[in-house]
Amino acid sequence: MKNLSILGSTGSIGRSTLEIVELNPELFNVVALTGGRNVRLLREQIRKFKPSFVSVLNEGSAKTLYKEFPSLKVGFGVEGTIQAATLGKVDTVVSAIVGAAGLLPTLSAIRAGKDIALANKESLVIAGPLVMSEAKKYGVKLLPIDSEHSAVYQSLKGHRSSDIKNIILTASGGPFLKRSIKSFGSITPAEALKHPTWTMGRRITIDSATLMNKGFEVIEARWLFGLKGEKIKVTIHPESIVHSMVEYVDGSIISQLGNSDMKGPISYALGHPKRLSRVGMDPFTINGKTLHFSEPSLKRFPCLGLAYRALELGESAPAVLNAADEVAVDIFLKGKIPFTGIHETLEAVLEGHDVEALKSVDDVLDADRLARAAARAHIRKYFKV
Ligand code: NAD
Ligand code: MG
Repeated sequence: MKNLSILGSTGSIGRSTLEIVELNPELFNVVALTGGRNVRLLREQIRKFKPSFVSVLNEGSAKTLYKEFPSLKVGFGVEGTIQAATLGKVDTVVSAIVGAAGLLPTLSAIRAGKDIALANKESLVIAGPLVMSEAKKYGVKLLPIDSEHSAVYQSLKGHRSSDIKNIILTASGGPFLKRSIKSFGSITPAEALKHPTWTMGRRITIDSATLMNKGFEVIEARWLFGLKGEKIKVTIHPESIVHSMVEYVDGSIISQLGNSDMKGPISYALGHPKRLSRVGMDPFTINGKTLHFSEPSLKRFPCLGLAYRALELGESAPAVLNAADEVAVDIFLKGKIPFTGIHETLEAVLEGHDVEALKSVDDVLDADRLARAAARAHIRKYFKV
C-alpha cells in the first residue's frame, strides 16, 4: 500500500490520479489532498477518499472545510501545501500544481524524503539543477508524469545513457498546425483552448497551442535525463500515439505508444516499479492507425525557439521564460492581448533579461518575480492593458 499526497488534486492531473486510486483501493491510500479555489470539488474528494489532511489557497475556505469536517486537519496557503507534501505518513507525493507555485512544495517533499510523481514540469524548468541535486542528495525517486518524459523514461530502461544519440519529443502541433500564420493575431481564447488530442488544464492547453509547452518539455528533459539541449529534438506527430522516443547511437529508435490519456503515464508513475492492470482507459489498438512525423516550424511556433534560447542562456533564463509565459497566458485568456502577444512578450522579456546565477530557491523566486513585472510592463506598454 502506497500512501499518497496529491498536490493540486482538483486539477486535470489531480482528478485523473484519483480515478486511478479509486480503481486500485488495495494499492493506494490518500493521506493528503490540496486544491486551489475549487472548494466544491475538494469537498467531494474529501468525502470519497477520506484524507487526514487537506490544504486550500485561502484561510476562509480552510475554516469552512474545518467546520464541515471537524476530524480533518486543514491548512492553507503555501505553508499548508508544504505541510501536505511533507507529512510523515506519506510515501509518494503527486506534484500536480500548475506553475512556479509548484516549486516550493515539490522541493519540500524531496527534502522530506518523499518519492515524487512529477507533473509540475515548472519545478524542473525553473530550478532544474537544484531539484535534481536535491533528489539525488535525499535519495528519492523522481518519476515523470509528463507523457513525453514518461515515454522517454520507459524507453531508456535497460540501456546505457552513453549510448543515447538523441531524445525525440513528440508534439501534436496543437489546434493551429495548419492555420494560416497570417491569421494568428485573431485567434480567440476559445479556439486556443480546443486541443485536438489531449484534455488538460487551461494554461498547458494554451502552451500547447503556442508549443511553449514543448519548449518547456525540452528544458524538463534536459535536467531529468542529463542531456544537452542539442540532443533533445522535437517532432510534430499529430496523432499523439507515439509519446516520445530515444534514438541510440546504432540508429535504433525505442519508443512508447498508447492512448492520449494522462492516466497512462500517471499510472506508470504511481505503480512503479510495477505496472497497474486497472488504469481506467479504453484498450489501445494499433491496427488501423497511421502515424505522421514532421519537423516543427519555428516561424509558426516561435515559443519553441525561445525555449532553446533560454537553455543556451542558462541559469535564470528558463525561470524568466516560464514566469513571463504564466503572465502572458493569463492575460491572453482574459481576452486582453492577442495570441501573438504571448510570444512577443516572452521574447521581449527574455532578451531584456540580464542572466543571473541560480544558487538557491530565493534566486529562482527573485528571477520569477522580476520576469512577471517585466512581462506586465511590456504588456502595459505595447498592448495598453
Ligand atoms: P489544472 O489547472 O487543471 O490544475 C492545477 C491544480 O493546481 C488545481 O488543483 C489548482 O487548484 C492548483 N493550483 C493552481 N494554482 C495554485 C497555487 N498558486 N497554489 C496551490 N495550488 C494551485 O492544471 P493541470 O493541467 O492538471 O496541470 C498541472 C501540472 O501538470 C502542470 O504543471 C502541467 O504542466 C502538468 N501537466 C499536465 C498535463 C495534463 O494533461 N493536464 C500533462 C502534462 C503535464
Ligand atoms: Mg507533455
